[in-house]
Order: sequence, then C-alpha cells, then structure tokens
Amino acid sequence: MTLVTRIQEQLEGIDIRFKEPLKLYTYTKVGGRADYLVLPRNRYEMARVVQFANQESIPWMVLGNASNIIVRDGGIRGFVILCDKLNNISVDGYTIEAEAGANLIETTRIALRHSLTGFEFACGIPGSVGGAVFMNAGAYGGEIAHILQSCQILTKEGEIETLSATELVFGYRHSAVQDSGAVVLSAKFALAPGTHQVIKQEMDRLTHLRELKQPLEYPSCGSVFKRPVGHFAGQLISEAGLKGYRIGGVEVSEKHAGFMINVADGTAKDYEDLIRSVIEKVKEHSGVTLEREVRILGEKE
Ligand SMILES: Cc1cc2nc3c(=O)[nH]c(=O)nc-3n(C[C@H](O)[C@H](O)[C@H](O)COP(=O)(O)OP(=O)(O)OC[C@H]3O[C@@H](n4cnc5c(N)ncnc54)[C@H](O)[C@@H]3O)c2cc1C
Repeated sequence: MTLVTRIQEQLEGIDIRFKEPLKLYTYTKVGGRADYLVLPRNRYEMARVVQFANQESIPWMVLGNASNIIVRDGGIRGFVILCDKLNNISVDGYTIEAEAGANLIETTRIALRHSLTGFEFACGIPGSVGGAVFMNAGAYGGEIAHILQSCQILTKEGEIETLSATELVFGYRHSAVQDSGAVVLSAKFALAPGTHQVIKQEMDRLTHLRELKQPLEYPSCGSVFKRPVGHFAGQLISEAGLKGYRIGGVEVSEKHAGFMINVADGTAKDYEDLIRSVIEKVKEHSGVTLEREVRILGEKE
C-alpha cells in the first residue's frame, strides 16, 4: 500500500492538501510546496495526525498564521500542520481561553468586548495564539509571558499535557516549546477588569503607532531581527545606510529598516541573501552582530 493510500485511509475525514503551495499562506508571500498540508479541526484530529506521522517516521511541523517565518523555495517535506481550524475563543470571568489557531488580534478584540485589560499590547500582532506563545510575542512593553496562565500542549510523542506559565520558561522571544518540539493546543490568559473606553483608546493609540511606523501595506515577516542588547536593529540597519537596499524582489523597508518587504515577486532566496548581506554590513558598520528573530524553514530549491 502506498503512503498516500495509507494517509487517505488512516486519516480519513481530515482536511489534507497534497503538494500545496505555502506561499498562499505565508505573510511574506514566498515559499515552496508542502508535501502534505494538514488542517485538523480539533485537538483529537491533531493528535491522530502527529501519532500517524510518528508511526510512519514522516517529518511534521506546525504553523500558525505564518507571520514569523520564511519558507524556503524548495518547500517543506512531510506534514505541515496548520492550526487555522482550531480557533475557538471563550471567556470565563477575567480569563480568556483560546485555541492555538485563534487569531491573536481577534482574541484582543474579544478582551476589549468584555472590558478586560492586559491584552492591549498584542492588538496589532498578526499571529495565531499558538505562534504567539511559541515566540513569546510582545510589543510596546507587553508580552505573552505577562498574561499567560497556562497552556495545553501536545507532546512530540502525541500526549496532551497542561503546562503552567512557569513551566514555559519564557524569555525574550523564547518559550520552552521551542526546545521541546511540542504543539501548543490552547492557552489561558489571566486578564483584569478594565474600562472599555480606556482599553479601546490604548488599542487605537498602538494601532496608529504601527500604521505610522510599519510598512503594513507590503508582505513581510515583521521585524526580521531580535533587539540587540543596548540597540535597536532598525536603527543600526538605517545607520549602515541600508534603507531601500534590495536583492531580487525583497528590500529593506524605507519606512522601518527592521522590516524586509516583498516588493516585486521576491523569493525565499532573495530574503535569505538580503538577511545575510544586512548582517554582514551592519557588523562592518557598527560591530554589532544581528540575530534573526524570523525562523527559516524547509529546503532550498
Ligand atoms: C506586520 C507584522 C508585524 C509584527 N509585529 C510583531 C510584534 O509587534 N511583536 C512580535 O512579537 N511579533 C510580531 N510579528 C511577528 C509574528 O506575528 C509573531 O511572532 C507571532 O507570534 C507569530 O505567530 P504565527 O502564528 O504567525 O507563527 P508562525 O509564523 O506560523 O510560526 C512561528 C513559529 O511558531 C511555531 N508555531 C506556530 N504555531 C504553533 C503551535 N500551535 N505550537 C507550536 N509551535 C507553533 C512554528 O512552528 C514556527 O516555528 C509581526 C509580524 C508581521 C508580519
């Protein structure tokens, strides 16, 4: 029996797309095909997929909103599991529980609707809840670590477990999930009662700041580099004279030098070449070695 037949039989009922172009899903609009793009509808389907992949020794990985990754032009072998359909969000008192594929921005809007404060910082971060926990996403002085109470994960072996915030060992753009290879299934956020108008004003202020400073009109992956201690990546890049520097179809944004935007049908190779070149030039100019925040996945063409 071929692998495709075994997938069709054993994962019957689960949405699986063969040889799916990932550029349709990534924020950068680059990336080759996934051998199998899988969209489980719930955690049990997710566990079935992971257990099947492990049994068959098929590589697998999960994606949220694909807003912090560059998928190489050769695509990704094995299963790419997209969390999109695990998107339930519920509110209980001052706590919001959201599944991994829930949109982070939508989750902050629900916090606003219930006059819950603490989530304002994330109102413009275009990731999923799972990706935000994985990355310990943050902005404007806030980060996921400040509000996360607990989260449910699926271990690499396919077991469902609950982890406390302490067990997630959050750091700057880091969580223990990055080391364990587990899948975030859902997260509980502890918020506080607030005033609807005050929360809304703060969200409007932060959205306005983003619109002013970030090239949101172009495909990108957000800030390409982590903030180097004592510096700002965008400022170092700008001081090295690299605003507008382009390789292929990808260029350093004129509006925010920490962003690289896909302006003319760029490829993942363009992104990688530009990142490498910017790291070298910034090192030459300022002596600082920039470290990538964005994750590069898959195979070269
Ligand atoms: C315009 C723009 C603005 C941005 N602004 C910010 C900002 O202000 N602050 C900030 O921190 N980030 C920002 N980002 C980056 C990005 O939105 C965040 O890092 C976000 O948390 C990534 O979530 P995602 O669902 O898109 O993850 P993806 O890009 O899909 O994945 C990122 C990593 O997380 C892993 N992952 C995803 N879901 C899961 C899961 N359920 N379980 C386990 N692992 C998982 C993936 O395997 C991958 O390694 C910005 C990006 C863009 C494009």
